[in-house]
Amino acid sequence: MKSEADRYHGRVLVTGAGGFIGHHLVKFLKSKGLWVRGVDIKKPEYEPSPADEFLVQDLRVPENCQQSVRGVRDVYQLAADMGGIGYITRNFASLSRNNVLINANMLEASHLEGVHRYLYSSSACVYPSFLQHAESVKGLREQDAIPADPEKGYGWEKLFAEQLTTYYGEDYGLGVHVVRLHNVYGPLGAYQGGREKAPAAICRKVAEAEEGSAIEVWGDGEQTRSFCYVGDCVDGLSRIMESDDAKPINLGTEELVTINELVELVCGVAGKHLRKQYDVSQPQGVRGRNSDNSRLRKVLNWEPKTRLEDGLKRTYPWIWSRLDKTGTAKPPRPKEALGPPIPR
Ligand code: NAD
Repeated sequence: MKSEADRYHGRVLVTGAGGFIGHHLVKFLKSKGLWVRGVDIKKPEYEPSPADEFLVQDLRVPENCQQSVRGVRDVYQLAADMGGIGYITRNFASLSRNNVLINANMLEASHLEGVHRYLYSSSACVYPSFLQHAESVKGLREQDAIPADPEKGYGWEKLFAEQLTTYYGEDYGLGVHVVRLHNVYGPLGAYQGGREKAPAAICRKVAEAEEGSAIEVWGDGEQTRSFCYVGDCVDGLSRIMESDDAKPINLGTEELVTINELVELVCGVAGKHLRKQYDVSQPQGVRGRNSDNSRLRKVLNWEPKTRLEDGLKRTYPWIWSRLDKTGTAKPPRPKEALGPPIPR
């Protein structure tokens, strides 16, 4: 007789499948020939999901988690209440509560239903703020997370959910993976409304700006980050799921840029010359953050390769074309908007 794991081989659940990374992941896994169930509290906003089955469920409810994991072998847990820096610094209580419930219920359901492998999407926000005071930051290594001093709210919740995921691996034999994502961007992500991240927000501002005008930049623009193209991100998530590694692992790039440099790159892609107006009263997060990919390279013999400029060449035209539909995009029209990423 076949074991549960064999019986459900090739059957995968993606939670958060109505969101940015989850939707791209569903597409990626479908392209690899897997049967995919997507679950989210909402459907994807910009195009239909190619999932074999899509359940609209609130994963804060234990019974919904149990229904979602039934009959699948692997779970990618991406559902979370999250957004850009403005959103996560305004909603500490509700965001933390929602995510605690989703993660605790998803782990318990996966354990009870005999799921084979479980990947948790954590974040670089778990790293201590005391290591991120300077722009010229050293890449953050996985062991740097503890002693802890993560980002208030979102970061603390992610760090605890990492621990909880690890305990389910240790105590119940769930095949866990914990991935720390670093600033993912690309087409089909939020670009307005408050949940958008810096690359999408800057693409929107540049797209809506008249040539020669000024755009608002949060902080003084000298804060640094590294950004990971979504095509690399979903490829990396799938590679990590297939690996034997259970410990937290970074998934990002080591291409550190200031926000000013990011603005210049977007302006270059857009073909516009714009001035920057700084608003230092807005939240800017930690001063500097970069990934150290040593462990990623060692475990996978692979790391994200897409240069920021190349990823922006795929992202900016998509955002511009969305804004063009509502009449707010300003010329020049970018070259043909490239479709979603081609998995490599
Ligand atoms: P996203 O907001 O686009 O996707 C998250 C999805 O979770 C949304 O579609 C949302 O509707 C869904 N969700 C929220 N509450 C839910 C609930 N109660 N029940 C069911 N679904 C619910 O975010 P994303 O950028 O795609 O991020 C995916 C995961 O990766 C998240 O766990 C996030 O914390 C993590 N992450 C993302 C980044 C990034 O740069 N995008 C960085 C670090 C970590």
